[in-house]
Amino acid sequence: MAACIFCKIIKGDIPSFKLFESDKVLAFLDIEPLSRGHALVIPKHHGAKLTDIPDDQLSEILPVVKKLASATGAENYNLLQNNGRLAHQVVDHVHFHMIPKPNPEEGMG
Ligand code: 5GP
Ligand code: ZN
Repeated sequence: MAACIFCKIIKGDIPSFKLFESDKVLAFLDIEPLSRGHALVIPKHHGAKLTDIPDDQLSEILPVVKKLASATGAENYNLLQNNGRLAHQVVDHVHFHMIPKPNPEEGMG
């Protein structure tokens, strides 16, 4: 979808720090991270809500989250997926937030 920010990121028209890419899924760093390493994992298929995304794209999301966790060594993190304005969705292209919870004793985040 031409006007969608995340579709532009997928096309490379807007720069992003990419963490993982396959033919169906892209993971990249959030531009306003809630903690260090805050990532967004998105299906390449454009759709605003979870119900708009084909199952074959959704089924690749969690394996990518697992890859990110393994690659970064993240042990504590939250997964968040907002649907609709009342649920705080701002970008109308389905995305899963992976938000690391830093260890306070290590002073990061
Ligand atoms: P939402 O509230 O829709 O679940 O979250 C949208 C997320 O997209 C926010 O955390 C915001 O920081 C992120 N975001 C918005 N625009 C951009 C952008 O152009 N690049 C990147 N990397 N993240 C973005
Ligand atoms: Zn889109």
